[in-house]
Amino acid sequence: MKILLVEDSATLRHAMSQYISEAGHTPLIARSGEEALQLLEDTPVDLIIMDVEMPGLNGFETTRLIREWLGGHWIPIIFVTGKNEDESYREGIEAGGDDYLIKPVSPVIIKAKIRAMARIAEMRDQLNQLNAELEALSQLDSLTQILNRRTFNERANQQWLLAIRHQTPTSVLMIDVDHFKPYNDHYGHPAGDRCLKQITQALKGCLHRPADLLGRYGGEEFIALLPGTDRKGAQQVAHSINQAVRDLAVEHRYSPVTDNVTVSIGGATCNHSMGHSLEEVIKAADKALYRVKHSGRDAFAIEEVAAHKTLLIGTRQSELTHAVSKTLQQHCNIVTADSAEECLEIARDVIPDLIIVDAETAFYNENQLCRQLARGPKTAATALLVLTDDSDRPDGLAELKGVGPVGWLGRPYEDADLCTKVQLLLS
Ligand code: GH3
Ligand code: MG
Ligand code: MG
Ligand code: MG
Repeated sequence: MKILLVEDSATLRHAMSQYISEAGHTPLIARSGEEALQLLEDTPVDLIIMDVEMPGLNGFETTRLIREWLGGHWIPIIFVTGKNEDESYREGIEAGGDDYLIKPVSPVIIKAKIRAMARIAEMRDQLNQLNAELEALSQLDSLTQILNRRTFNERANQQWLLAIRHQTPTSVLMIDVDHFKPYNDHYGHPAGDRCLKQITQALKGCLHRPADLLGRYGGEEFIALLPGTDRKGAQQVAHSINQAVRDLAVEHRYSPVTDNVTVSIGGATCNHSMGHSLEEVIKAADKALYRVKHSGRDAFAIEEVAAHKTLLIGTRQSELTHAVSKTLQQHCNIVTADSAEECLEIARDVIPDLIIVDAETAFYNENQLCRQLARGPKTAATALLVLTDDSDRPDGLAELKGVGPVGWLGRPYEDADLCTKVQLLLS
């Protein structure tokens, strides 16, 4: 353990740090309460042994400040003092001390106390670990009572599949508190927690639709999924969030942005969910957030995730080509071919992400199309969707080996099924 020894007497410091080392622990030294507070700012310790009478901040005052600053995080603090009155003992425990020893303290006693405290600290760690596991099992984040990251991801994925099926736009917003580290450092962790709860309320007030999802994604980072919301709608929501957080008027004197707490928002909208995964959209929102952070904060930026997948439709049946193009053209770049040979030629040229063919084209000349595609280093991994007149899985399908993922769809098909199949093969 790292044990912080706060003691103004050089003789006692020397003796005590020797006992600590002998007990197998690492002593860290502070000569005053002020020095202890400073040291704790960037060095985590496991136990504190605190003198009471010191010039400047005394041990009780220092302990109160440490307890306030650490909030829910408990570290054992043992007082070692020459004051043996009952009243002083009471005050020490009130101030947040866990034990109270009267000087002179024998090395045996101090080592035994360190052992006892180490045992309690170990139980605390086990408890924290269990709490973390429990939280992971539950659906809500314990501080803010909104969805935790895992549950958010699960629900967002369900919404995403619906959006693909109905081909509706979806937006994601990543919301990150600006300069929250200095906020915590100056106002303390409990104040930071209160601030996060207030921000949660402000966020909730800006999301009005029943399908909107709000989650806590990380420490001071929130995420919102807005189904059925295009870029313009997402901009409106982001704008109202920026304003709602400003309106909270939570003082933040250490923020270089303004005197109050603010948030930065990065968003992404996917109109053409075809070929995109939710992860890609979240990544795009994260990138946008990064840009807002670097251009001054307290603002938003929403990106549009563009259609970028290329689809090759190869069939002799012009009505089929027409119908498939019509369903998919708003989501993908479409190229067409009207024979297996042409299909191959274009595939080598364009390198499509997916080829959609009818059974006749797929199986022409003993799967020649697939064999040739498999041979080309650039086309070998191309996905293939076969539209067949058989409502059962066509026999030859298993032989379409050597290319990338292969899927099939019986005709007549529903547009929504075509969209879902294409999405599956593209992702
Ligand atoms: P930026 O504007 O670039 O986002 O700066 P920042 O200081 O907000 O970012 P950074 O990632 O450096 O720090 C995030 C801080 O948020 C770290 C920690 O102090 C605080 N924090 C994270 N989770 C919690 C929490 O659950 N409670 C409290 N009180 N603070 C938290
Ligand atoms: Mg002293
Ligand atoms: Mg931040
Ligand atoms: Mg952050």
